[in-house]
Amino acid sequence: MAKKVKADASGQPFQYPLKREYKEPDWTRLPGYKGVSKGQWESALWQRQHSAKNLKDLKDAFGPFLTDDLAEEIVRDQKEKATMSLLIPPQMLNCMNEKNLKNDPVRRYMIPMSSDRHTEWPNHPKASRDSLHESEMWASEGLTHRYPTKVLAEMIATCPQYCGHCTRMDLVGNSVPQVEKHKFAAPPKERYEAMLDYLRKTPSVRDVVVSGGDIANVPIAQLEAFVLALMDIPNIRD
Ligand code: SF4
Repeated sequence: MAKKVKADASGQPFQYPLKREYKEPDWTRLPGYKGVSKGQWESALWQRQHSAKNLKDLKDAFGPFLTDDLAEEIVRDQKEKATMSLLIPPQMLNCMNEKNLKNDPVRRYMIPMSSDRHTEWPNHPKASRDSLHESEMWASEGLTHRYPTKVLAEMIATCPQYCGHCTRMDLVGNSVPQVEKHKFAAPPKERYEAMLDYLRKTPSVRDVVVSGGDIANVPIAQLEAFVLALMDIPNIRD
């Protein structure tokens, strides 16, 4: 007899439609960004240089809004359950409701407390290292050839921020106590050349998904050279 499953409509933590105006919140309300000019805030480089990587950076950004019990639980989560290291740009911190950080859905997603997680399934029950089995299908390091006409090129193993649900947690980001991250063995230029060589010899492939990590972190000269070389391969069309 089929097992009866009890429906569990989890509470929606975010209320739609928005009750406030749909615009970027004023970042100068947060203690760490009081003196930050519009020019600095809108600079991708400034955002990158001021991304929060640890508890101290979070405390600097939120000041007293980050309570001690919340801070302790974030540290515990990083030590005991997290599969991704902390990296959050100021723009993302600015999306959080500093007056109710504990219940803020963006905070819960990006910087979980230990008690936010399900006791039996702290992560998705099917979450595992390389859960999509991409590296098993590497034609060259970082180039997944799963479908006849399509490949995925993992250019880089970093992102501007690290999301807790990442299906590439095997590779992406810094190591955490739960996951010693896989490191690409070859340097980037060698890997890119090996990918291009494979694609030149494999005319069945016409579609290349250029990905990572996040290609926003690939130096533009390297990315441009790679994409131009792809476009020179006659079989690559998409
Ligand atoms: S690869 Fe995507 S999901 Fe994973 S950390 Fe980077 S942005 Fe987030």
